[in-house]
Amino acid sequence: MDMKTLVFLMTDKCSAACKICCFSCTPNRKKLLSKERMKEYIRQANEIGTFNTVSYSGGEAILYYGQLKECMEYAKSFGMKSTLVSNGFWGADYDKGYEMMKGLKNAGLSDISISVDQFHQEYVPLEAVKNAIRITEKLGVLSTLTAMDLADGKSSYDVMDRLRPEIYGKDIIVYPCFPAGAAGENIPEDQFIMACKPDTAICPYNNDIITMFDGSMLMCCSQFSRDIPMTYLGRFETDALLDIVENFNDNDFRYVLLQKGFAFFTDLARKLHVPLQGNYCVACHLCRELFGNKAFVEAAEPYVTEEADRMRVRKLLSVS
Ligand code: SF4
Ligand code: SF4
Repeated sequence: MDMKTLVFLMTDKCSAACKICCFSCTPNRKKLLSKERMKEYIRQANEIGTFNTVSYSGGEAILYYGQLKECMEYAKSFGMKSTLVSNGFWGADYDKGYEMMKGLKNAGLSDISISVDQFHQEYVPLEAVKNAIRITEKLGVLSTLTAMDLADGKSSYDVMDRLRPEIYGKDIIVYPCFPAGAAGENIPEDQFIMACKPDTAICPYNNDIITMFDGSMLMCCSQFSRDIPMTYLGRFETDALLDIVENFNDNDFRYVLLQKGFAFFTDLARKLHVPLQGNYCVACHLCRELFGNKAFVEAAEPYVTEEADRMRVRKLLSVS
């Protein structure tokens, strides 16, 4: 599979401490990826040749503005674009925020996604987010506003209501809040929205390679990934990016999941008498339930290997 995006969750330090944060980030956290190693990975991504984007998140990567900008500039020197996820706290001072974003745009930032909902707005004043939206729109780098919602529907609705008129004409993605990280501890169970049906769930994997702030390399940074051994690909400090990519391609569970979706595995779970819930929040929630279950993974392995072999032979013979 050709990888497209190299993602750095640069730090677990954040300007906020949202009670739904899947990585439990706070202002007191201190993990930060090495700048030199990040640049080395960017160089290697360019050498591999299929990557076209470097994405930054955290925590708040902007808290390390100099490092962020330098990495973006380095990626730009290879023709790669940069994207960023942020809570918009830097919009508190419009002029300063504008200069910061302008600097990042010049360094190669093409898209920024801004998080807005009742949980973020406990820490980031609404006026700062409004400024962040105005600034990024003016600079032509605003891609989406994202919100986490609960079953009571208030989380995203209240903030969206108060963000008028800035939200008009913007792309808004509302995710159900997931029972992972701080959300698993702080949110009552009946507030999680269970909208995902196991048999039709699809893995939303998007050809990314993720570097977590603790140096673990994963195939995805869903709220559940760290609890799913299948997503683990290696270590940032020691492994070459090409080896990480090869590790990705060398796993039958991943191969079958990405080709066939979850139906193969939910059928297998029933056959192996592994209990499933009725519905899940999202596919990644189901993913943790199945592939975070060591007993299921061990019992499923021979079936998955057989299916992967069969699929590879059919592919070789070009049989659909
Ligand atoms: S802004 Fe994002 S990274 Fe920071 S605490 Fe909130 S959810 Fe976590
Ligand atoms: S479904 Fe699983 S493998 Fe796919 S993106 Fe979600 S956590 Fe990752």
